[in-house]
Amino acid sequence: MKKIKVGILGATGAVGQRLVQLLTNHPWFEINSLCASEKSAGKPYGDIVNWKISTGIPGEIAKLKVGLCEPTIDAKLVFSALDSSVAGEIEENFAKNGYVVVSNSRNHRMDSDVPLLIPEVNASHLKLIEIQKKRWGLRGFIVTNPNCTVCGLTLVLKPLDDAFGVKKVIVTSMQALSGAGYPGVASLDALDNVIPYIDGEEEKLETEPLKILGEFKNGRIVDRDLKISAHCNRVSVRDGHTETLTIEFEKKPARDAIIKVLSGFKGESYKLDLPSAPKKPIVYLPGRDRPQPVLDRNIGDGMSVAVGRVRESSVLDFKLVLLVHNTIRGAAGAAILNAELLLAKRLI
Ligand code: NAP
Repeated sequence: MKKIKVGILGATGAVGQRLVQLLTNHPWFEINSLCASEKSAGKPYGDIVNWKISTGIPGEIAKLKVGLCEPTIDAKLVFSALDSSVAGEIEENFAKNGYVVVSNSRNHRMDSDVPLLIPEVNASHLKLIEIQKKRWGLRGFIVTNPNCTVCGLTLVLKPLDDAFGVKKVIVTSMQALSGAGYPGVASLDALDNVIPYIDGEEEKLETEPLKILGEFKNGRIVDRDLKISAHCNRVSVRDGHTETLTIEFEKKPARDAIIKVLSGFKGESYKLDLPSAPKKPIVYLPGRDRPQPVLDRNIGDGMSVAVGRVRESSVLDFKLVLLVHNTIRGAAGAAILNAELLLAKRLI
């Protein structure tokens, strides 16, 4: 198969660098254009990127000249890892000009005609694309992946909701520093500390899963009717968001049934055999002190969500802990998986 040329908008940031790493040697996609702000444009990527991934900058990519985020690049598909202060307008401009935009940014996630996508959970929401294309009048469109913390939460809620009906969730997040981009949180704020506030994060955690778990009906998504209460904290961890969940079900299941449902989850897109799809979207860890970011964030090449400590709650029904790699499953890997789904469904 001839590889599809792709561009990366916001290629110099934390998520942009992950996109570069994960797209290098991808079997279906080939990086053709790297774009960022005026500050970076015009120079070779290797000279201006403040590279923070231990595998090093791929040699050929380092030589590519960074361009501006203008819809004139030689690629049909663009991945957006732009700061949300600029992502909205730039992504629209690309879609209007016929590009397929696969975005990490929050700006268009809740638009009624934009899929907020996790292939294992709601591939059926791709039906929104036909409706959206009418808006742009051309072949271009936007699909988005959820917020990094939402991605782990929703992947775990989906099989539980299908099997037992989820009514209420209380979630507390302990979010890694890389989730704030680079340079992100000042070292004197982060070190030896927990910051019990992340701007806008609790709202995303309480609303995005309802759209993703919703149903496509009469040309729109009807949100899933369940309640989520979120507490979000920034902690001094480099990569990997940990979340503790307490859940009330429509019908309280047995502990073993919960573990079986989570471990057996394959998801809607399983049969498509997408290159970045983990063999197991959810990996249950029986150890009494797992999952932990340092030990478990790279499970399934960072694309699986690790779950442990499933136990009864004396307030709601059950409690558990999950861990999601925020820049892989929660961002760059999620976007690449979405693009693979679009290609497998012949939407690119
Ligand atoms: P980041 O490290 O701050 O990177 C931001 C990128 O946007 C840089 O490449 C920057 O280019 C570019 N940019 C900023 N202003 C621009 C402008 N005026 N024109 C063109 N490009 C501009 O942020 P990040 O953490 O990678 O996050 C990127 C997006 O993904 C955000 O919307 C974020 O909310 C979302 N996201 C992040 C995570 C995560 O774990 N970090 C997870 C899920 C979603 P320059 O270097 O040239 O300034």
